[in-house]
Amino acid sequence: DTLVNQIAAGEVVERPANALKELLENSIDAGSVNLNVELMAGGTKLIKVIDDGIGIGRDDLALALHRHATSKIRDFDDLQRVATLGFRGEGLASIASVSRLVLTSRERDGSHAWRVEADHGRLTEPEPAALSVGTTIEVHDLYYQLPARRKFLKSDSTEYAHCADMVQRLALANPDKQFTLTHNGRAQQRYLAGDLAKRAAAILGDEFAASAIAIDEAAGPLRIHGLTGSPTLGKASRDAQYFFVNGRFVRDKVIQHALREAYRDVLHHDRHAAYCLFLDLEPEGVDVNVHPTKIEVRFRESQAVYRFLLHSLKKALADTRA
Ligand code: ADP
Ligand code: MG
Repeated sequence: DTLVNQIAAGEVVERPANALKELLENSIDAGSVNLNVELMAGGTKLIKVIDDGIGIGRDDLALALHRHATSKIRDFDDLQRVATLGFRGEGLASIASVSRLVLTSRERDGSHAWRVEADHGRLTEPEPAALSVGTTIEVHDLYYQLPARRKFLKSDSTEYAHCADMVQRLALANPDKQFTLTHNGRAQQRYLAGDLAKRAAAILGDEFAASAIAIDEAAGPLRIHGLTGSPTLGKASRDAQYFFVNGRFVRDKVIQHALREAYRDVLHHDRHAAYCLFLDLEPEGVDVNVHPTKIEVRFRESQAVYRFLLHSLKKALADTRA
């Protein structure tokens, strides 16, 4: 089982940022409103996520670290309409198989917390621990027993940059939650709970927020909303392009093409704009299970999605020009 998990880990957890994503998505699924991230050495020494979600009871701690133990899917139909971020039940098991993981959690009605430790998949018995309501997960020394994997890790500063990006993506998708990030004991980012405009200003910059065009269009099961950068914003780069499908950050050719076309048609130029946009559609309309790291999507009706995006963007851009 440990071997299976370690192989899965190679897919799910390419680097610390992927582990961090799994942990933060679990915290979000658990209804947390305060998410604190502490990293050491770009996440290679330590990834710690402290949340204030519903917590995990004593008897479910071991289960949470078990492969295909997910509390989020009950049957195959659920699989077809995944609404939560996690649903494969292999995130924690994979991470625990390639690190030393400490899981401490206290349920809302629990009188105290419980703590388990997993060293490369070997689990300790739950012990009482002190913690306010919520869950804290520490991932120590990712891949330290797997030198072949470890050597794929880049410098601490590169791994840190990937982690910081990951926090920003999740922070943009969840402006109503507070996020903090520290690295090697130093505070790096603090995003106070607020609305999308405030969050976008904090992450994409005040200049973006001041000139961004708000979009909110719907057609049938499709809705697009968010902020798209005014094209006068010259320094927009690919790094400032955030697109979320049903709350998940994605990079997709169909989407990118539609956005580029809209800018070209209305404003007659090719420069990439910055944006932070959310496409929501019925879960059946999109396959998010293409790859374990879940950054790609496959639309059932990709032409319809394309046309909808193109039309909505063009309309929003034309409105502001008029
Ligand atoms: P998945 O997210 O796909 O269900 P994971 O391996 O990531 O699988 O997590 C396994 C289970 O552990 C989750 O279904 C959830 O019940 C529990 N869990 C993990 N992290 C948390 C958390 N931060 N707060 C509450 N429950 C959690
Ligand atoms: Mg998960």
